[in-house]
Amino acid sequence: MSRGLIVVGGGPVGAFAALTAALKGERVTLVDPRGVLGGAASRSAGVVTVQLEDPLDVRLVVRSIELIRSVSKSSSVRTGFLQIGREEDLSDSVEAMREAGVEHEVLTAEEIRERWPVFRVEGDLIGIFTDMDLSVEPPLLGGELGGVLASLGVEVIRQSVVSFTTDGGRIEGVVLEDGERLKHDGLILAAGSHNRELLLRLGIRLRTTVITCYAYKFDVGEELEVPSFSDELLHSYWRRWGTMMVGGGYDAEWADGPDYSAVEPPPQYVRRSMAMLRSRLNLSREPRYHSSLRGPCELTPDMEPYLGRLEGLGDVVLVGGLRGYGLMRGPALGELAYELLRSGRISSLNAEEMERLSPKRLIRSSKRSRVGGINNDVAV
Ligand SMILES: Cc1cc2nc3c(=O)[nH]c(=O)nc-3n(C[C@H](O)[C@H](O)[C@H](O)COP(=O)(O)OP(=O)(O)OC[C@H]3O[C@@H](n4cnc5c(N)ncnc54)[C@H](O)[C@@H]3O)c2cc1C
Repeated sequence: MSRGLIVVGGGPVGAFAALTAALKGERVTLVDPRGVLGGAASRSAGVVTVQLEDPLDVRLVVRSIELIRSVSKSSSVRTGFLQIGREEDLSDSVEAMREAGVEHEVLTAEEIRERWPVFRVEGDLIGIFTDMDLSVEPPLLGGELGGVLASLGVEVIRQSVVSFTTDGGRIEGVVLEDGERLKHDGLILAAGSHNRELLLRLGIRLRTTVITCYAYKFDVGEELEVPSFSDELLHSYWRRWGTMMVGGGYDAEWADGPDYSAVEPPPQYVRRSMAMLRSRLNLSREPRYHSSLRGPCELTPDMEPYLGRLEGLGDVVLVGGLRGYGLMRGPALGELAYELLRSGRISSLNAEEMERLSPKRLIRSSKRSRVGGINNDVAV
């Protein structure tokens, strides 16, 4: 018997795809051993800003903000976002916001200091301010979203998908770790940095890479009245949550695979991010290191996400490649993945954008060869 729509992966993409489907009245089963937003998203810094450099990304974040706010009660705060930098550093995102029709203010250093005296901004630096941006506490959002999914009847199975059942290449269902087989009438593969290993089980090689990303929480001892912000000179980004400032200097390392271990970051990473924070804010006392966030991020060679179908796989949509911006763009991409699965098209994307996102660009066909008695995958 079919389980209706099956979503593999309960990250921002999968969980919001499940929400969209459930709101349409579909029967939905979400499979994830870590539950709702329990994977990379739970380690995410929680910065959600429209100030990205590509008009499509900006549009995606605008929609993600609406989706997050539709389920979030106490897990997000509308802080707005200030990008600080030289005019030439900020021109791409200003252009992208203009094209996407997002309102923004351009502020001089003096205007920034007048509005938020806690900022240290000198000389010819400027700021771009937008007011819709969110500071999100991802574990709280996972709890709230999980509650909404449960109230809509979405079944969450806390197991891994270990393989697929197929018929002539078409994926008919998934196999869980306990051996149970679930048939679907539509499948969304949204396992983030694990999509690669899942597709390899079908002999499909996805050209993505996994890195380990870090962010940090510093307790500054007071609730600062500042927007979330990024510093394009020192390359760091921050959001406030109570007396915490959460973010850091984009630290990341190459990884062999997704790493969820709780290993503390190298001390120099923490020191560097703390120095970045102190140099941009007038703080009344020394910030105190509270904890770190560490988890996998999935990269594509062109740094663009992927969303689309693969020929011959049947009713399956593949979506991912969100790097360090998946809480921002993931909810909207999850919604679009559902639309593509059920209607075969995405009304808000043009043909060129669909082509740009197509996962076909990331597929290397593979065949098995035997060399020296050992099976090897050969890229062709
Ligand atoms: C330290 C850090 C800071 C970050 N900061 C930000 C930020 O400030 N803003 C932002 O927008 N993004 C940020 N990110 C990035 C963001 O977390 C990711 O881009 C986002 O989580 C990707 O969403 P996803 O749904 O594709 O994948 P994930 O969130 O990784 O979700 C995939 C899910 O699939 C599940 N899964 C894996 N294998 C299987 C299987 N076999 N069967 C079933 N389920 C499976 C996993 O358990 C996981 O829950 C940060 C990430 C890190 C690590």
